[in-house]
Amino acid sequence: MHRFVALFLCVVFVVASAVAQNVGAPGERKGSGTVVLKAARVIDGTGGAPIANGVVVVLDDKIMAVGPASTVRVPSGAKVIDLGNATLMPGFIDGHTHIVGRVLGDPEAGNAAFRDADSFLTLLGARNAERTLMAGFTTIRNLGAPNFDDMTLKRAINEGWIPGPRIYGAGHALGITGGHCDENGFKPGVADGDFKNGIADGVDQVRAAVRYQIKYGADLIKTCATAGVLSEGTAAVGTTQYTYEELKAMVDEAKKAGRKVTAHAHGAEGIKIATRAGVASIEHGSFLDEEGAKLMAANGTYLVPTLMAGEGVERLAKNNTLRGLRAEKALLAAAAMRNSLKIAIANNVQIALGTDSGVILHGTNGHEFTLMVEWGGMSPLDAIVAGTLNGAKLLGVESSIGTLSAGKFADIVAVPGNPLTDIKRMENVTFVMKNGAIYKNAEARP
Ligand SMILES: [Zn+2]
Repeated sequence: MHRFVALFLCVVFVVASAVAQNVGAPGERKGSGTVVLKAARVIDGTGGAPIANGVVVVLDDKIMAVGPASTVRVPSGAKVIDLGNATLMPGFIDGHTHIVGRVLGDPEAGNAAFRDADSFLTLLGARNAERTLMAGFTTIRNLGAPNFDDMTLKRAINEGWIPGPRIYGAGHALGITGGHCDENGFKPGVADGDFKNGIADGVDQVRAAVRYQIKYGADLIKTCATAGVLSEGTAAVGTTQYTYEELKAMVDEAKKAGRKVTAHAHGAEGIKIATRAGVASIEHGSFLDEEGAKLMAANGTYLVPTLMAGEGVERLAKNNTLRGLRAEKALLAAAAMRNSLKIAIANNVQIALGTDSGVILHGTNGHEFTLMVEWGGMSPLDAIVAGTLNGAKLLGVESSIGTLSAGKFADIVAVPGNPLTDIKRMENVTFVMKNGAIYKNAEARP
């Protein structure tokens, strides 16, 4: 090596060593030491009765013990945080988000895919992710993002650069050419899709699309089994899109890689086709009928009702933000959603909470608990299980999150008062802990 180059490299090395502790990723915040959380109530997420005067003992990033204050031993030297007349619960899980980009109703949202750089959309995603975490949602299942921006956000959160929930992302949602998961309404050539960005027709392309999403980090696969409310085009909201053969190939291909598939499906027929093909969950399920519900229950297929999306698009249709066919579809779907959750519950379909945030404002996710009770007739306790344990089961991560249980990650939230007597309390999260690190403590007592 030339001596000058060698000397130069040597200087670079010395400088690099001097600042080494400042140049790497900060690492995601984690708790350290023993922290004891006390509150008037603990709802552990299993569906069991609330524990009065409960405590949760946290060591570093894990839960060590949960129970009534009278029986759980508080380790000496522990930091005690008494939340008073609050209710402690597991961190909430939103099973249906679109964390990247602008929200529906943003006047700039219409052509965002063609005007906004990916870096811009991802930056908005960082803001959305922080709002979601502060609303008590410590985990999300993100069902569709452009250009693997969901993977970028996930990495930035996991490396500790920005605060946000645990992200399980789908990459691009898979759909047929011209279908609900495609970008429609533009002249030919402007928004042509291919398997890389999720537009795939026929069994072979579908397999390629699944493999491509997984190659770049997809934790699960999202597909559009039927038409939708917000897509441009003439299809009625419930029209079937993928065939059984295509959906079956998708499920098989994903399964080989240990991934689940979830299907956006409004229409009764599309719900049944997707369920028979073996998807893990149905998103929206607006026009679910008795036969479909029985089929879902028999297959263990979850329903993610996204009632907030129904309420949100209904509001936008009524105030003329949505017009024409999109408004008509919105009103039809929202009306149907008021019955579909009841049909699902009556037939013992498993329910996981999902908001479709992005269609609704990020950070307002807790309102879904309220709608599950008010529209769907769920008990508040069942709604809480849908937004905690069932979300974890649907993701396949119930051994590490989803309930307040010894050994699980310390993802813990609190609301003032009792959500079992007033479900709206779920919309006012005042304490957020993720991995044992406290992100919000609005009403801490000395
Ligand atoms: Zn969605």
